[in-house]
Amino acid sequence: MSDLSTHLAWDATPDPMDVAVIGTGHVGLITAVAMSVTGHRVVATDVDDDKIARLTEGEPHFYEPGLVESLERQLASGRLRFSSDPSTTVGDAEVVFICVGTPPRADGEANLLAMETAASMIARHARRSPVVVEKSTVPAGTADRVRQTMLRDSGGTHFEIVSNPEFLREGSALHDSLHPDRIVVGGESEHALSVMRRLYEPITSQGCRLIEVDRATAELAKHTSNAFLALKISFANALARLSELAGADVTAIVDVMGSDPRIGPAFLSAGLGYGGFCFPKDVAALERLSTRLGYPFPLLGEVARLNDEAVEAVASKVEEALWNLEGKRIAILGLAFKPLTDDVRFSPALTLARILLQRGAEVVGYDPRAIEEAAREVPEMQFARDAYEAIDGAHCAVIATEWEEFLDLDLAAVRSRMTYPVIVDGRNLFDPAEMVAAGFSYYSVGRPAHPDGRVPLPSSLVS
Ligand code: NAD
Repeated sequence: MSDLSTHLAWDATPDPMDVAVIGTGHVGLITAVAMSVTGHRVVATDVDDDKIARLTEGEPHFYEPGLVESLERQLASGRLRFSSDPSTTVGDAEVVFICVGTPPRADGEANLLAMETAASMIARHARRSPVVVEKSTVPAGTADRVRQTMLRDSGGTHFEIVSNPEFLREGSALHDSLHPDRIVVGGESEHALSVMRRLYEPITSQGCRLIEVDRATAELAKHTSNAFLALKISFANALARLSELAGADVTAIVDVMGSDPRIGPAFLSAGLGYGGFCFPKDVAALERLSTRLGYPFPLLGEVARLNDEAVEAVASKVEEALWNLEGKRIAILGLAFKPLTDDVRFSPALTLARILLQRGAEVVGYDPRAIEEAAREVPEMQFARDAYEAIDGAHCAVIATEWEEFLDLDLAAVRSRMTYPVIVDGRNLFDPAEMVAAGFSYYSVGRPAHPDGRVPLPSSLVS
């Protein structure tokens, strides 16, 4: 993986295009910056005027490694601008990316209202008949609805709609946008496909594969990719339960499995499960789509159920360690759904916090980046300025997100500050033998806590 300086020093394309981006969230802002880095002229907009005002000043509204520097550099280049005015944004664009949110409805179906609003806005303000690129993750068939909406709201203009799903990972989003594994473009006309080839030429010329398919295939391929990754995580979590019953070590099992190139090690880790704005909603949306199309896909429901079970299993370990939770103080280390982001949407750490609060515990959380975001989601929690403050007086500390800084904790200091030295490691971050040697009652996921399989009680619990 190339370092962040790669995208700071990228040479601009000799064939720049006018690009508009609708929605400046985790995908839209990164797309806007990446398009500017590759040399295109970009105007991005959002319904949230406050975001646009801050972005114009070079202030991103979420954390992503390297983003502040990259945003500043692209603003200074003059290629990247932000605007709240729809006409300024899409008026002269040759390509318009739709990057709005597609959150889940209560029944799991994707809420596509923002897609319709964005499509309608483009239809009313575009002057150059741009290719409209659906980058948001949407159920197969959405591009047809976008096309119909645009035809109606433009008063009869025909727009080319392309599906171009995004595969970036929060935490390495800029890198992923500029050095993707593959670019998928689903289009119905040679004109639209040729525009997309031109747009992505700076990236494909570096060897990235561009896969051209039809629109429904592109839309479905995004949902199926995420569902399959979620399946791997849930599979590992089911193996963790089985390993605990069989006295086996799930980390060794997935190491054995993942060494087979047909399986691969990625996303095969047991723990607190997956979260974030993609996997939970995309698994649910794919299940809903399959059922709607007449092919119920119960495996997807099982993937989600195993993910819920993974959080419940960690909560049970806390109860197993502490017996009653009422009046117990529990520190949760890590609140973001994964490291290197401040995104707490569908974070398993916050699901766990809610369960523990509901069972009567006092919960104090710490995260290197996501405290403000977590406080908005779970205001009943307390928050600490660092990990040591969080574990002060705690009866148990739970590792909920695998931030690297937790590996640097001074274990003797941690132990001395806690009321009971109990660690429940929801991410298998630490070595069990080392934790036991450091004097902790240490619980992890799918691994024996001790060579003899027992979790020794701390002296403070037995005396
Ligand atoms: P987000 O919530 O971070 O950003 C969405 C943005 O769209 C917000 O800033 C919102 O204010 C804006 N918006 C909503 N309606 C609008 C409208 N009509 N006009 C202009 N702006 C509007 O969401 P996100 O994480 O960027 O995800 C966007 C899409 O990309 C989703 O479909 C998601 O599934 C998909 N996706 C997300 C990721 C990820 O890691 N976050 C990765 C790949 C794909």
